Amino acid sequence: MWESVIGLEIHVQLNTKSKIFSPASTNFGAPQNTQACAIDLGMPGVLPVLNEEAVIMAIKFGIAVGSEILDNSIFARKNYFYPDLPKGYQISQYEIPIVSGGAMEIIINGKSKIIHLTRAHLEEDAGKSIHDLYPNESAIDLNRAGTPLIEIVSEPEMENAEEAVQYLKNIHSLVRYLGISDGNMQEGSFRCDANISLKKKGSTTLGTRAEIKNINSFKYVESAINHEIERQAAILDRGDSVVQETRLYDPSKDETRSMRSKVEANDYRYFPDPDLLPVSISQELIEEIKSNMPELPSAKKTRFINQYGLSEYDTIILVSDRELSEYFENILKDSDLNPKMTANWIITEVLALAKKTYLSVKDYPVSSEDLKYLLSNVTNETISSKQAKDVFERMWDNKENPRDIIENEGMKQISDVDELNKIVDNIIKNNYKSVEEYQSGKDKLLGFFVGQVMKETQGQGNPKIINQLLKEKLKK
Ligand code: ADP
Ligand code: MG
Repeated sequence: MWESVIGLEIHVQLNTKSKIFSPASTNFGAPQNTQACAIDLGMPGVLPVLNEEAVIMAIKFGIAVGSEILDNSIFARKNYFYPDLPKGYQISQYEIPIVSGGAMEIIINGKSKIIHLTRAHLEEDAGKSIHDLYPNESAIDLNRAGTPLIEIVSEPEMENAEEAVQYLKNIHSLVRYLGISDGNMQEGSFRCDANISLKKKGSTTLGTRAEIKNINSFKYVESAINHEIERQAAILDRGDSVVQETRLYDPSKDETRSMRSKVEANDYRYFPDPDLLPVSISQELIEEIKSNMPELPSAKKTRFINQYGLSEYDTIILVSDRELSEYFENILKDSDLNPKMTANWIITEVLALAKKTYLSVKDYPVSSEDLKYLLSNVTNETISSKQAKDVFERMWDNKENPRDIIENEGMKQISDVDELNKIVDNIIKNNYKSVEEYQSGKDKLLGFFVGQVMKETQGQGNPKIINQLLKEKLKK
């Protein structure tokens, strides 16, 4: 009966060294209230000066999503009162943003869809209210005040939580490829507001939306959206109307609840900041930035498929994280490893342990060099892939060196045909019943024989040779 419509506003913290309008540091984790200077606090008489680095980063983003970069974009004061905003206004962009339009492709179950961007604008972050430090009081940390952000606004074109999360993940991956943000969601460097409304199936008129503020994990975005869809459907089902409002997602209760009724733009009394000039951007600057762009996820995806013969599915996984794709390519560098086998290893073994131990690529305990060594030992059949998996787990869990493990354990795959022949003959002799069953058509028993030989060789037999020998010898 109802169709959901979702538009996202994503706040990305740019990783400049200093604030957007002041020389104060943007370092995360410094003692509270030590990193905001008089400019960030808007003390009387100060003058903001625009950080060129932040402008360049916004342009990079715009180029990457095919936007128009607007010359003479304007900084505006967005006036509102909140304790974490001592100057009483936030410097943002309103009528003319620096980045206009653009698009991001998402692929879900092999199907491609384009999500259009409305705009991306530069703005400063506010401070942070802390409600859990003192029992009956709130505290304020202004370190973050004046930190440069880009706010990326999408068109209301996503139809469900899955699309919204995929879009969010793609933008997250992109800003990390561009090197303009660390994307750290726990630290608040990447967070989003989700706007959700329902409309009658097939209708082209959008319904009234609720906006869920400041969600900082992919999982929360998904559950917040799904909850909100259910809540609104229940309201509409009973014939009531949705109230336009700002809501908060509470992960501990897994619900959204009302924060305040929606503030309209004209309540903010936006006006151009008289202290800041329009941002003039030359075509030369844009060209220069274009010529220095890193390889982006979509280009890397095409390259991986062509250069390494990987499937689209595998490629999407590898390319989604810039560091993971580099880990993969570092393993292949100057080696004759099979790319497909290497990709499989990363996608199954490496990512499984990474997930289990909650580690991101930069914290992997196994270097690409050590994994390369391990995989070449599989390729030249010194060890079996079963052995390699055991070794890999030890490398991951105890940071052990693969050379030491393989040597100390005397691991060696038995590929000597004569030796394996003897063992295979013995197994066949001692299991004549199973041999008869196999020969009368029970093909599945081959696995049993392989298992017996493996057991006899303590897991060191070369499975390929064992399979061949067994198949030959078991023929009637
Ligand atoms: P603001 O939230 O500041 O008022 P906008 O009106 O520009 O800003 O909308 C912000 C976001 O809300 C955009 O991502 C837009 O796609 C989305 N949006 C607008 N209307 C709807 C709607 N009816 N349903 C879902 N999303 C919407
Ligand atoms: Mg909004």
